[in-house]
Amino acid sequence: MEPDRQEPPPPGGSPKGRGLLSVVVPCFDEEAVIGEAHRRLAAALGNLPGMDFELVYVDDGSRDATPRLLREIQRADRRVRLVVLSRNFGQDLAITAGLEHAAGDAVVLIDADLQDPPEVIPEMVERWRQGVAVAYGQRTEREGESRFKLWTAAAFYRLIARVSEVSIPRNTGNFRLMDRAVVDAFLSMPESARFVRGMVTWTGFRQEPVPFRRAARFAGDTKWPLRHMIRLGLDAVFSFSDLPLRLLTWLGAAALAAGLVGAGVLLAVRPVVGASATVVVAAVFLGGVQLLAAGVLGEYLGRIYREVRRRPLYLVAERLGFGTGGGSAGGRRPPSGGAAGRAPAA
Ligand code: UDP
Ligand code: MG
Repeated sequence: MEPDRQEPPPPGGSPKGRGLLSVVVPCFDEEAVIGEAHRRLAAALGNLPGMDFELVYVDDGSRDATPRLLREIQRADRRVRLVVLSRNFGQDLAITAGLEHAAGDAVVLIDADLQDPPEVIPEMVERWRQGVAVAYGQRTEREGESRFKLWTAAAFYRLIARVSEVSIPRNTGNFRLMDRAVVDAFLSMPESARFVRGMVTWTGFRQEPVPFRRAARFAGDTKWPLRHMIRLGLDAVFSFSDLPLRLLTWLGAAALAAGLVGAGVLLAVRPVVGASATVVVAAVFLGGVQLLAAGVLGEYLGRIYREVRRRPLYLVAERLGFGTGGGSAGGRRPPSGGAAGRAPAA
């Protein structure tokens, strides 16, 4: 797809030469952890046999010192690329930006807060070498998460598995290694509702879990308040399923049937209940059904509207570490095809 990209080795193509591993790290207000995260990442990646690595940090509109710290990290380490987005676009779009700027034969997604241990990456690379296209981290335990968070997460996975067309593996976040073929497939998907996990699962190929223990956040707070969880849940349902639309049909049919039966009953026992009470109940019920129907249609309509506008997925304010000078803005990787075509340079 792009001239400067190395030929992707086939997944599992036996012993590779010095391939490149990209590690994409979305960062939003991570001043408390970013330094430590970089140290741990660099240490874990330093002795990958037969592979070079690059770290692609994406600053997702942080309001704290994160961008400054990232610039310092970038200045001190040639293996670091930095993409600063023009504002907060959300984790999934930050990841998309990072993937678009990653040059690796394989790309790892990892959170900045050290909840995903960098030490697991070599194992993922090993799996990739054995021919796995997506090695996704699967949590075996969670530390330092509230019961509420655990419960909502569990409910979330159940819901997704139930309704959507792809079954997203349980207990997985975005922590994963993807082969170049999968990254290119992901970037060729143009939608602006980018639920990364779902999209990666959708691509198919050989996807296998790598179990790990999810640590507590090293420092700072989760950036996922309940509001975001709900948003993510709605996205997952409405973007990957037309079940709500089909449910509407059934709901309408059921209301109609109930209305018919009710009418029959009323005709039979007319004198017993007052007519006005009946009308009120029927009106409230049908009004409710119709509003619900309109709401569901609205969810899809809103999504369609967002898609047809075809806005850029994100905007870049600054790029560091891509040019030959290693310091100037502007990319080794100019905006290109697929979803990338909609991500203009600043
Ligand atoms: N993040 C981001 N943009 C956002 C929210 C989060 O880039 O709008 C990043 C954040 O810096 C972290 C990762 O996404 O590296 C996961 O966020 P967080 O740890 O808050 O989520 P949780 O682990 O609670 O699911
Ligand atoms: Mg976290």
